[in-house]
Amino acid sequence: MVITMRVPRHDLHIHTDYSDGASSVEDVVRRAADVGLEAIAVTDHFWPSLGSMRGGLSVIESRRQRIEFLRTEFPRIEILDGAEVDVNSDGTLAPVAGGFEQFDVVIASFHFGCNSTQWASVIARLLRKHSFDILGHWDGYLTSYRPEDGAAVARLLAEHDVAVELSTRYPVKHEDFLIEARDAGCMFTLGSDSHTIDTVGQVEEQRQMALALGLPLLYVRH
Ligand SMILES: [Zn+2]
Ligand SMILES: [Zn+2]
Repeated sequence: MVITMRVPRHDLHIHTDYSDGASSVEDVVRRAADVGLEAIAVTDHFWPSLGSMRGGLSVIESRRQRIEFLRTEFPRIEILDGAEVDVNSDGTLAPVAGGFEQFDVVIASFHFGCNSTQWASVIARLLRKHSFDILGHWDGYLTSYRPEDGAAVARLLAEHDVAVELSTRYPVKHEDFLIEARDAGCMFTLGSDSHTIDTVGQVEEQRQMALALGLPLLYVRH
């Protein structure tokens, strides 16, 4: 497969000082402009997800106001208002004040180690209850990988329109799954999982992997 459609340069997984990132939203957006990104998603953790510093609707709304202001200041960059939420071991997602629908993009991520059979069963339960956009650093916490689990997850993600993230912070260990997901019809996103501005937009290796394996990249608008 050859990807001919041009996907804007993007980084859809960035933390700011609204959670465990070191930099302000303003500094992240300025950096994104400096390195030539055309789209970013600001995806903080909010209480009670791991890595959250704060939560509550007023915090989320204050970040949103800053994002809206920055959209006018930096009209050449698509800035998505996002969140990264924890996948719980019981197959639920950590809640966010005000719900998931308020965000342009929701990344669901495992932050606990499990084998691929548990991983597949948690994802199956998750997708019965919740809708989200991206499975973050999908094998970052996987302790083992069985192709049959990967095939089941790939089918479910494709069926529920959940994209698979290619993460800089958690390099892919099980490339087989990417092929399964591609063949099942999944889309893919690039995410640096940046916590400091120097890594914003560092997704080139992941972009090259997508090109080499023919993984179609998703582009999201707010
Ligand atoms: Zn994460
Ligand atoms: Zn993250």
